Amino acid sequence: MVSRVIPVDTFDLVIFGGTGDLARRKIFPGLYRRYLAGQMPPDSRIIGAARADLTPEAFRETVGAAIAEFVPKDRQDPAVIAKFLTRIDYVPIDAKGDGGWTALADIMRDGVVRAFYFSVAPALFGDLAERLHKHGIADGKSRIVVEKPFGRDLESAQALNAVLASHFSEKQIYRIDHYLGKETVQNLMAVRFANILFEPLWKSEFVDHVQITVAETVGVNGRGAYYDKSGAMRDMVQNHMMQLLCLIAMEPPYHFDPDAVRDEKLKVIRALDPVKPEDIVRGQYLPGGGEGGYLEHAENPASRTESYIALKVGVSNWRWSGTPFYLRTGKRLRARASEIAITFKAVPHSIFDDAKGWLENVLVIRLQPNEGINLMVMIKEPGPGGMRLMQVPLDMSFADALGVDAEDVSDAYERLIMDVIRGNQTLFMRGDEVEAAWAWADPIIDAWDARSTRPQGYDPGSSGPEDALMLMHRDGRRWREIKE
Ligand code: NAD
Repeated sequence: MVSRVIPVDTFDLVIFGGTGDLARRKIFPGLYRRYLAGQMPPDSRIIGAARADLTPEAFRETVGAAIAEFVPKDRQDPAVIAKFLTRIDYVPIDAKGDGGWTALADIMRDGVVRAFYFSVAPALFGDLAERLHKHGIADGKSRIVVEKPFGRDLESAQALNAVLASHFSEKQIYRIDHYLGKETVQNLMAVRFANILFEPLWKSEFVDHVQITVAETVGVNGRGAYYDKSGAMRDMVQNHMMQLLCLIAMEPPYHFDPDAVRDEKLKVIRALDPVKPEDIVRGQYLPGGGEGGYLEHAENPASRTESYIALKVGVSNWRWSGTPFYLRTGKRLRARASEIAITFKAVPHSIFDDAKGWLENVLVIRLQPNEGINLMVMIKEPGPGGMRLMQVPLDMSFADALGVDAEDVSDAYERLIMDVIRGNQTLFMRGDEVEAAWAWADPIIDAWDARSTRPQGYDPGSSGPEDALMLMHRDGRRWREIKE
């Protein structure tokens, strides 16, 4: 199947933090792939802007090296890479001073889309916003893209929103959550709102529970100091997992339109119950597998920061009251796997004697690896031997079912950057959404900060702390196996 590529308008995209890790691993490789696909107009430009005193030639070399390292070899076309690099420029800039800003102002073109990607520490967002205005570089039509973390609590998120709002309108601000750029996450909306099949069942009457899992095999190695100030709740739950929960729980928007979608997501966040202490399990990975445990990597050897969290969340509205959402995420777990599983209730009465094969329907939305959607359905076991039942997947995986080369499914970052150029905010978080999510998360974090309990230790390569299993068993349910 050949995917359709619709070119975007010509743009000047400035990447503040263009020499940083994110730019190297995700932004430039992603932009190259859009160029290769023919989506980036050939006269568009990408301007790196960072503290390092580099010439444009030296910067192009670093971008070329990033492409060589992070783009799959069979997508590296030397002629296209050479052309792509001619579209790249560089300006050394100081976010906290006036150095470099006039040079940047001088090279920006009129009549093209101007976008500014803040791929720098959030502490610099205010400085960048202010200087873009002071030097007349941003106008009322320019867009800014801001990275996570968007605050560490409600107060800091409000402060960030206020500083950006003093120079840009909400319509100009694109808060990235790369989970929203994933193909399957968007497909979740297509499955829900473009089919009659699921929506009538999409409520507590028919859905027993929902599980959202984001499991990683890696630890915090090298990022211990940063992570220790954050933890799984701030790093994963308040943003990525909250966004996934919203897309599952939200009402159908009246139109697939940025504010219509985001209004519905906001209503979900506001309907979340406060989480009771007994519905939360926090864990820290222990040493094992030849690696140190969490505490060996954290700055504070007595740290109580969680590298794992599981929680049971209630959504108090007509649709979901009575259907729990179980969320879990952690590092150094058995496998790298992110998925959403919607488990439907069993049929009201079984007419078959074979009760042992009696399982529920589950809709599994797989985010990584192997993005795809599977619907687990019950069928008769083939062959003679009577009426025995078995559960089989109706596989809607892209790679197999749609004949799409996995490499052609664009990465979340490149898709989201193209949305910025198109001026489509549907897959970006609005300021009030982020604040509402912190307003929900803050009391949970404050409550455990106030207690002296330590997170429960768990073995690397396991599926998390014992208490997390109990969280489900207690309710007569079980977690799905974490597997790639
Ligand atoms: P990094 O430390 O690798 O790079 C920081 C960049 O900011 C460098 O280009 C540096 O030159 C520039 N910079 C720092 N101070 C500056 C100043 N005073 N003036 C101008 N430029 C300055 O950081 P990173 O890992 O690329 O992360 C960038 C942002 O993206 C952060 O907000 C981070 O939280 C977020 N983020 C990163 C990742 C990731 O995988 N690296 C993932 C998600 C979010």
